[in-house]
Amino acid sequence: MATPDPLPLAQDLLRCASVTPADAGAQDILAEALAALGFTVTRLPFNGIANLYARIGDRAPHLCFAGHTDVVPPGAGWSADPFAGTVADGRLIGRGACDMKGAIAAWVAACEAHLQAGPPRGSLSLLITGDEEGVATDGTTRVVDWLADRHEIPDFCLVGEPTNPARLGEVIKIGRRGSLNARIVVHGTQGHVAYPHLADNPVHRLLAALAELTAEPLDTGTDWFEPSSLQVVGIDVDNPAMNVIPAQARAALNIRFNDRHTGAGLAAHIHEVLARHADRAELDIAISGEPFLTAPGPAVDRLRAAITQATGITPRLDTGGGTSDARFIARLCPVAEFGLVGATMHKTDEAVPVAELRALADAYRAVIAAFLP
Ligand SMILES: [Zn+2]
Repeated sequence: MATPDPLPLAQDLLRCASVTPADAGAQDILAEALAALGFTVTRLPFNGIANLYARIGDRAPHLCFAGHTDVVPPGAGWSADPFAGTVADGRLIGRGACDMKGAIAAWVAACEAHLQAGPPRGSLSLLITGDEEGVATDGTTRVVDWLADRHEIPDFCLVGEPTNPARLGEVIKIGRRGSLNARIVVHGTQGHVAYPHLADNPVHRLLAALAELTAEPLDTGTDWFEPSSLQVVGIDVDNPAMNVIPAQARAALNIRFNDRHTGAGLAAHIHEVLARHADRAELDIAISGEPFLTAPGPAVDRLRAAITQATGITPRLDTGGGTSDARFIARLCPVAEFGLVGATMHKTDEAVPVAELRALADAYRAVIAAFLP
């Protein structure tokens, strides 16, 4: 039996202008589609952010799909209305087509295909947030806490982010690097450049600290992660005078780090290096994500085999790119990511070929069959 067509639901979702934090009716449409298939849908709004959790079946194995209905702003210069769900030349155009309303529709079609044969051979669930492209504080992380409180722990979770660079089937993400932002202010004592012994130059102290922080690589990488990277992204003194030692100097840096580090460990390292060079300094650190890795094993093998069977391509296992909501789900259960081709995500004229959308539904159907045999 053919997999049901994901296109109509994808179009309905694209017609909602759900730019974070707006939902614009997107989750109503999804909730209705899932209820019609027999899912029990629980709406989980937190601080005005729409989230939902839906489940069918009450037995193991439990396979969860996670995604987001929010999108980034469209920007200008589109060849079609970004919120009209237009199909032109075999491509579905719209903000969210590949990131990631298309993948949500493909998953729903795959669930429908599985349920055509009767009740699920286990449990299927969806964890959908409206706060992935924003600050992500009232979305997946809150729903994960809600699930953990209820001891509702999936055996495996697949996140539908676009993972493929050019062709469906190329890449499964099994981990992501962590990310840390640091803002540094070094205080000195302002004075005349001709009398430096009466001043304390904060620029020299800041440069010495940054030189030490960047002198050695943080690590050499692991089997699954590239080396961690510390990048200074700004140095500001704002001193127009040539004859004044300024009172303060500021810098900002970002670290993308693998699982040989923790955010807290790197924060302590920066603190220690800075203290050695500047006794009067402020350090403001924000950890936007810890790294995670779902070690290759039977579950990842099963996922990979299903995608290979459906697409004819054996996916590479990868941990590159930015952060995703999978970092929150990793607290709950093993998680990996597989979705559409990401070439147009966040761009003008974001689009997905309709054939690729349908092929993803077939691949997801194979994944469900592999996890709920
Ligand atoms: Zn996304």
